[in-house]
Amino acid sequence: MRAGLFVAIAAVAAAVLAGWPRPAEAQTPPAAEPDRQAVVDDIATGSRILADLGVLDGFGHLSARSPANPNRFLMSRSLAPALVTPNDVMEFDLDGNAVDPKGRAVFLERFIHAQIYRARPDVMSVVHTHSANVIPFSVTKTKLVAMYHNAAFLAGGVPVFEIRDAAGDTDMLIRDNALGAALAKALGEKPVALMRGHGDVVVAPSVTTAVFRAYYTDVSARLQILAASLGGEINALTPAEGQKADLVNLQIQGRAWDLWKRKVSGQ
Ligand code: MN
Repeated sequence: MRAGLFVAIAAVAAAVLAGWPRPAEAQTPPAAEPDRQAVVDDIATGSRILADLGVLDGFGHLSARSPANPNRFLMSRSLAPALVTPNDVMEFDLDGNAVDPKGRAVFLERFIHAQIYRARPDVMSVVHTHSANVIPFSVTKTKLVAMYHNAAFLAGGVPVFEIRDAAGDTDMLIRDNALGAALAKALGEKPVALMRGHGDVVVAPSVTTAVFRAYYTDVSARLQILAASLGGEINALTPAEGQKADLVNLQIQGRAWDLWKRKVSGQ
């Protein structure tokens, strides 16, 4: 009897400590949930945008670090980017393991994303492309430079990852964590790294900025090939110009995102 009374008192005390009865505003979901859904939606939208812009085709992928857990990232199941919807987005740990696979196929190269999120706490979104315009710069000695202000983030230099140095003759794919870590090391603190004979990786503090950078890396590469065809030395942005111009890009990139989003939403 005394024990029962104690349990009852303890239950009331626990309820009071837990804040019961709760005020109405305390019954709204935790803030992390809507943020996570917004990021999931942006992954689907951004994937379709990059496909629409020709940066991604049947291959390549866009991911984001989970806003609810920095040790997890979100990316689509294995699917062509133009077909990604929010329902296709899965969660992974930083070894590239799907948290709740439910039998869904996953991207072979998810280790690119896992190891970059592990190495770069500042990175919230990663894009991997086979962007055709960057390939020439991955297989020659010609450095990719920032041709104009939209590509200002390239002005600090663009490293090239040589998979042969990491693992000899491979099928060129980043199919395990060791290769992902080697790629992340080559990327260093930069926003973009080229992958020899393969494509590139682009990182950013948000999905919208990652999409912006992936697109303008492709455009700047195409402009550099055009400029080279005219002959003579190329007068690219300096690192100092790049830093200044990139600050402006971060402020105004929303205009491009809104346009691209509308185009893929069919509105
Ligand atoms: Mn690839």
